[in-house]
Amino acid sequence: MQLLKGLYQVGGDLNGITWAGVDAGFDDANTYALDTGNGILLFDCGCGDTLDQIYDNMRYWGLDPAAIRYCLLTHAHLDHAGAAYLLKKAGVTIVSHVNAAEAVAAGDERCCAFLYHKVFTPCEVDLQVQGGDVLNLLEVPIEALHFPGHTMGCTAYAFTLSDKRIVVCGDVIGTLNVGYFGWDGSIDFNKAAYTESLTRFARMNFDVMLSGHGMSYFYKPRRRVEEALNQALIQWR
Ligand SMILES: [Zn+2]
Repeated sequence: MQLLKGLYQVGGDLNGITWAGVDAGFDDANTYALDTGNGILLFDCGCGDTLDQIYDNMRYWGLDPAAIRYCLLTHAHLDHAGAAYLLKKAGVTIVSHVNAAEAVAAGDERCCAFLYHKVFTPCEVDLQVQGGDVLNLLEVPIEALHFPGHTMGCTAYAFTLSDKRIVVCGDVIGTLNVGYFGWDGSIDFNKAAYTESLTRFARMNFDVMLSGHGMSYFYKPRRRVEEALNQALIQWR
């Protein structure tokens, strides 16, 4: 579905855009497509079993899957990064934080395939970023914000579209119907790091927050980050 001018949600099973065997589930994270006019950027890519559905959704909106140039991973969990190896085979440049790149290359428990009773097919990330890096991809400046905690490689991506500041936050922030945080069972989950990340995130202002699962936030999303920080401070100390 179209979210903003040039920006589409093309995958995600919590709101039924893709289906990975479970209805309203967490097996397939949200995939976003940004049509830059010079090619397409994807943010996350789903679990791997839904890539054809993602391509079909893109075609519906007039987006050619062959025009995907980059896929930016928010972290290494299978529901977000499971299709990375398929995109890489198709010639897409895979981007992630260095820590997530290690996990994706290893395909080990940090990718949490066990949670879904699946196998994570590893691949080498082509372009590895650190927090604070600003990438210029297809003439769009994109800032990488390292927010470890849900996993140690968790990274949000910030950019400007039609004068709106957008942040793609992955699982750093949960959706309203399932609590404040991303899943807390990752082998590299870390409460102290997560709380520190939320503290930094809550100081930032964005107009739109695109979440890892389910609903996105189009009105003052900072309140959602502040709620998560408040809960982290109450629950995790
Ligand atoms: Zn996750």
